[in-house]
Amino acid sequence: STATKAVAAVNGYHTNGNATSNDPSIERVQIIDDEKRFTSDLTPQIERWGLQNAGFDYDIVAVFGSQSTGKSTLLNRLCGTNFDVMDETRRQQTTKGIWMCRGKGMNVMVMDVEGTDGRERGEDQDFERKSALFSLASSEVLIVNLWEHQVGLYQGANMGLLKTVFEVNLGLFGKKSADGRSQRTLLLFVIRDHIGTTPLANLQATLTADMNKIWGSLSKPPELNDRQLSDYFDLSFAALPHKILVPDKFEAGVQDLRKRFTDKSREDYVFKPMYHKRIPADGVAFYMENIWEQVQSNKDLDLPTQQELLAQFRCDEIATVALSEFNEQAKPQRKPIESGKVVEGLGNMMRSWKAGALARYDRDASRYHQGVYKRKRADLISVIDSTISPLFLGQLKNLHKACLVSFKKEMVDGMRGDSYDFAEIVKTARTRCEKRFLEGAKEASLEDTDWSYEEEFTLLSEEVKNVADQCRKDETKKMVNVIERNFKRNISEPVDLYLNKATPDMWDKVLKAFRETLEKAESSYLTKAKSFSCTDEENATALSTLRKRAWLALRSKIDEQTSDAAFLAKLRTHFEELFRYDEHGVPRVWKPEDDIDGAFKKAKDRTLELIPLYSKISPIEPSLAYTLPSETSDSLSAEADDFDFPSTLLIFSETKAVDLTNRFRKDADAYYVEAKRSTVATMAQ
Ligand code: GDP
Ligand code: MG
Repeated sequence: STATKAVAAVNGYHTNGNATSNDPSIERVQIIDDEKRFTSDLTPQIERWGLQNAGFDYDIVAVFGSQSTGKSTLLNRLCGTNFDVMDETRRQQTTKGIWMCRGKGMNVMVMDVEGTDGRERGEDQDFERKSALFSLASSEVLIVNLWEHQVGLYQGANMGLLKTVFEVNLGLFGKKSADGRSQRTLLLFVIRDHIGTTPLANLQATLTADMNKIWGSLSKPPELNDRQLSDYFDLSFAALPHKILVPDKFEAGVQDLRKRFTDKSREDYVFKPMYHKRIPADGVAFYMENIWEQVQSNKDLDLPTQQELLAQFRCDEIATVALSEFNEQAKPQRKPIESGKVVEGLGNMMRSWKAGALARYDRDASRYHQGVYKRKRADLISVIDSTISPLFLGQLKNLHKACLVSFKKEMVDGMRGDSYDFAEIVKTARTRCEKRFLEGAKEASLEDTDWSYEEEFTLLSEEVKNVADQCRKDETKKMVNVIERNFKRNISEPVDLYLNKATPDMWDKVLKAFRETLEKAESSYLTKAKSFSCTDEENATALSTLRKRAWLALRSKIDEQTSDAAFLAKLRTHFEELFRYDEHGVPRVWKPEDDIDGAFKKAKDRTLELIPLYSKISPIEPSLAYTLPSETSDSLSAEADDFDFPSTLLIFSETKAVDLTNRFRKDADAYYVEAKRSTVATMAQ
């Protein structure tokens, strides 16, 4: 029944171990087939073994030795694997190639080589050599399995093969890696069927001497000529009793040996960190395939280069995955930003996407070649940053817009009432606006980037200033208008009063009233303008405007008083007072003996004197002229454009004066005729 079981087992194993159990941890994989092809199943298999996330926490052991020296048996007993074992009774032909199992209860990938039977050797030395080289180059521990009686026998112990393998291994992989350390490998000699008459120490000495002899005879690359065996290999030894003759002792010996594979605290623990190839578990398949390719083609590439190639390949893959996750997260925020929205907490989102992507990358990629890992990390960061920097810039723009809008609104709201401090409103609104922008901009800024919001802030500040300036200008204009209206009201009465009474100092009085009213208006402006924080230039402009408008207001008031009709009425009244009333204000009753002609002439002449008096604004006191606005060239005011001050002093032109004189004369003549008639009437009585 043992035989039946063995057959069943063998059959089962030939279908990749799955027929007899659903436990993936005991699955086998043939990593190199009899066509010397590397399998594409190793990565999925490592995953099924549950080792893909082991990182560096796994080990690789391989075995070397002649055919049918109990290698597979040893591995199976030692590691709980299920490699094919030669069935003596049936001479069962095992499947050629390199096989791998996961050690039971241990994070160990175990490799077994199945060659052809020794008798058919010759045609397949190529595979034998390559598989041995591959085992040596890819494992941390290489078990060199041999019978006790083979010790010291060069041919029998496969030492020729070992020599070749050492030689090629040195040529292919012997150079130091970039970080200066060479790959170290433990050669664990397991002496089988140890009878015990020759102590292990003696066998050990013989084997060590043999190894050094082989090493000495290698043809090494010139630059590695002085390298010692110990530069690359540590030697370790174990002996096992005869499996068939003393099965219990054999089993005990195996269990003892197993401890050296599992107990890290032991001094003779085989998987010392220095033997580790520093390839993360999820990269093992790629790494091994590369070694196999090199072995196959004997390309003179060294392992560090391979590690870098592998790292490049894997880090790129890992970065791509991290980046696509990142893009998925970033994508939904693109629309709102583009549509002008300020996305609340965008900075935190971006920070967390970035941190997530980097954490993901670090988790999987940090185990690879450090230089490559770091370089690719920097690449990843720059891709991430450039992906989200449009979000940052968009956010700034939207923030800028939003802040400006609320600034304007705050200005408008603040100036709604009647009494407000304009400067205070601007200050508060600007502070709030800038604070809001800076807070938002800082939130959206990512650490370790060259992103800056200074430029946008400067733009915003300028626009805020422009808006405030515009508001102030509008406000100033409004204020000047109000003051102008008041001025008009205040100047009206004095002008009426003084111009109605033609006196020589009439203009002095008018101008004095003008000056006083204007002074009041100016001081009223200056009081209010203080809170506007107007510039001196703005004040000068406003005052100049105010003065001009005041002058024009005065002028139009004068025009009112000196319109043809009004002025002729004034002349008439004046004439009448002189001609029809005596010096006591008593109406005259003309008698024939009265000098009507003389009185008429006198009244007419004195009345005509008023025409030059009214025709030009000309005070007796010259200093009064200085109150008049003189900065007629001021171009800052729109009203200044065609304002020619001297011409505004003239009320009547020469022609106009002649015309008025003529018209008045007619009126006066009428009075004369009337006076004459009245004497005739008196005489007739
Ligand atoms: P391998 O394929 O060359 O590694 O050898 P196998 O493990 O297939 O074993 C070949 C034969 O040797 C089988 O019949 C085993 O039963 C037998 N065998 C295994 N271990 C020992 C041992 O320690 N001593 C002896 N004498 N025979 C063994
Ligand atoms: Mg075998």
